[in-house]
Amino acid sequence: MTTSWNRIPRVAHAAEVTLNRRGQPLPGASHPLLAYGLGRSYGDVCLNPGGSLLHTRDLDRFIAFDPDTGRITAEAGLTLDDLLRFAVPRGWFVPVVPGTRFVTLGGAVANDVHGKNHHHAGSFGEHVRAMTLRRSAGECLEVTPDDTPDWFAATVGGLGLTGLIETVTLQLVPVRTPWMRAWSQRFDSLDEFWELDARAEREWPYTVAWIDCLNPGPRGEVGRGIYSGARHATTAPARSQYREPRRAIPLDPPVSLVNRVTLRLFNQLYYRQSVHPTARAVHHLPWLFPLDAIRHWNRIYGYKGFYQYQCVLPPHAQKDGMQALLDAVAASGQGSFLAVLKRFGDRAGPGMLSFPRPGATLALDFPERGNETEHLFRRLDHIVQEAGGALYPAKDARMSPDLFRSGFPRWEEFASFVDPEFSSGFWRRVTK
Ligand SMILES: Cc1cc2nc3c(=O)[nH]c(=O)nc-3n(C[C@H](O)[C@H](O)[C@H](O)COP(=O)(O)OP(=O)(O)OC[C@H]3O[C@@H](n4cnc5c(N)ncnc54)[C@H](O)[C@@H]3O)c2cc1C
Repeated sequence: MTTSWNRIPRVAHAAEVTLNRRGQPLPGASHPLLAYGLGRSYGDVCLNPGGSLLHTRDLDRFIAFDPDTGRITAEAGLTLDDLLRFAVPRGWFVPVVPGTRFVTLGGAVANDVHGKNHHHAGSFGEHVRAMTLRRSAGECLEVTPDDTPDWFAATVGGLGLTGLIETVTLQLVPVRTPWMRAWSQRFDSLDEFWELDARAEREWPYTVAWIDCLNPGPRGEVGRGIYSGARHATTAPARSQYREPRRAIPLDPPVSLVNRVTLRLFNQLYYRQSVHPTARAVHHLPWLFPLDAIRHWNRIYGYKGFYQYQCVLPPHAQKDGMQALLDAVAASGQGSFLAVLKRFGDRAGPGMLSFPRPGATLALDFPERGNETEHLFRRLDHIVQEAGGALYPAKDARMSPDLFRSGFPRWEEFASFVDPEFSSGFWRRVTK
């Protein structure tokens, strides 16, 4: 059964079709269609219960590369992993990468993904120069930000609903080495986080913070954590060999290994890890993609799976709102193993449904515990909606139509670009 990364929901598809060449006719649409990349979304944005999934992983050829300008065209099933392996030795880097490199170009466009450098580089779609989009009626549209701005704004962040993206042309950014200069520092409260962030974001293109959402800081509030900043290094360190460790969770444990005891222990240990307030050389792989070092890490949550809850709050509400969210999580006793706080830059994404926008984003992972989890999420939803924020569709399996509509006010305009034969579990859920 094909699922997404968090394994919720588990649904059956009527058909699963592998695409392996450009221009291949799409299957006849007795069921709704939807492209599927590597399923690194959480939830049902890449699932199509009762419909047909179009697997794009074999659509993964490089088409053109200009080594002088760093402009590259490739099929949409190419992974960022493959792209980085090609580009980095040639002095180029993917301008925006999410926290895993095991995503496809098509998936990165369709969710308009963001990275730790949003305040510096914006979202993925800002670096897309062209796409080809196959529609179910058979036509193939050339989509560019200048010539077809409406189609561009609908397809970037368009959750795979405007058709099948066959190719993507992306502007890479120059780098001198695969290495980065990175530092990290502990903070005791969210107030300290905001101060650190205000200073760091001017100088450091990549910034992110991990939050301990179980244990309070010295002033009694939840919000202590570790802040990190980085930039691409101009020189490699003297001994610059790097080999990524290959660890894997070999099988599904019968129950989630993430529970109150292991979480509290993990958060204590993680908070106590050694920090490096002075910048030092680190390879880009562990800094940008720490979770990729453990293959199948999603298995630690067991067969029942887990949820990620990722929201963005607008600038006027971000400070109080983030504290309220963390307080609600702490009060529920359901701490998160992964709590990531990042301030977005002052720019909205180029897509009608882009998630990145001015404000701050918090991402939390929770094991599935039925009503207890849903009860907490309703509380968090209320805080997000009151603050005028939004949930990230790429990380969602349960938001209500009302919350989607308030967070994505251009959804009706977007709906007119949806291919009549394309749909997803997410789309049917939030528009019913
Ligand atoms: C460990 C981890 C860390 C992550 N960190 C971040 C992060 O920092 N920032 C962030 O923004 N996201 C993050 N994500 C989410 C991930 O980047 C996105 O969900 C991404 O879109 C997944 O890409 P995929 O290729 O697996 O696509 P899928 O999950 O398979 O699909 C995603 C969407 O893209 C559509 N799609 C895929 N291919 C095509 C195509 N060829 N044509 C049309 N539509 C298509 C699908 O229909 C679906 O709507 C993270 C995920 C994981 C597992």
